Amino acid sequence: MSKINHTAQQETVDSGPSTERQLIGDRGNHLLDRIEGETGANISACYQCERCTNACPASYYMDIKPHQVIRYVQLGWHENLMRSSTIWVCLSCEMCTTYCPNEVDVAGVINHLRNTAAHSSIPPKERHLAVFHQTFLEQLQRFGRVNELWLMNAFNRKPHILKEKIKNGTLKKEIRLGYALWRKGKLHFIPRRSKAIKEIKEVYRRKRGEVF
Ligand code: SF4
Ligand code: SF4
Repeated sequence: MSKINHTAQQETVDSGPSTERQLIGDRGNHLLDRIEGETGANISACYQCERCTNACPASYYMDIKPHQVIRYVQLGWHENLMRSSTIWVCLSCEMCTTYCPNEVDVAGVINHLRNTAAHSSIPPKERHLAVFHQTFLEQLQRFGRVNELWLMNAFNRKPHILKEKIKNGTLKKEIRLGYALWRKGKLHFIPRRSKAIKEIKEVYRRKRGEVF
């Protein structure tokens, strides 16, 4: 993840659509209406106070800050959002939603955008995080819950992931962390299937992965 200094006034993204398309908005009000309808978030109520961004523990790593995400949706700048690092960097911790004085569900909006991007043909800006997100959803479909050991095993078997981890030294750290967790009894070798697996699969099928 890289730090990109993106101020509230700098509302353009290098790799985004042309200025003309940005001014018009990719889909005009349709994007705002659609996302409000699908998430139930009252995006129109946002008055850009930036409290969501100030509360966000990951905003330092985001190229479009949480309050800007909401503004971009209002303006219909869908493609910028699909190409951003923000949708992959977000931790879904919901601090932004909690601190919003207008009860705008910022975390829900970002989660919705991430799921849309996961099923689009636009290459993700944060490839590793996108692959991890996809692996997480696959595991959820398989067991109805996530077993950390199986999740990391499946993630490491995705193309290029293990090779890159060996190269940058993160594999060693993960093995050490895994061993520490195992010694404390926090890792389970056999995953347990959720009793609600059928319902979870059905939700996943209907929503194309939008299970959160
Ligand atoms: S805290 Fe709420 S009102 Fe303020 S900028 Fe964020 S979404 Fe908008
Ligand atoms: S849910 Fe995402 S955007 Fe909101 S505070 Fe957490 S990391 Fe930041």
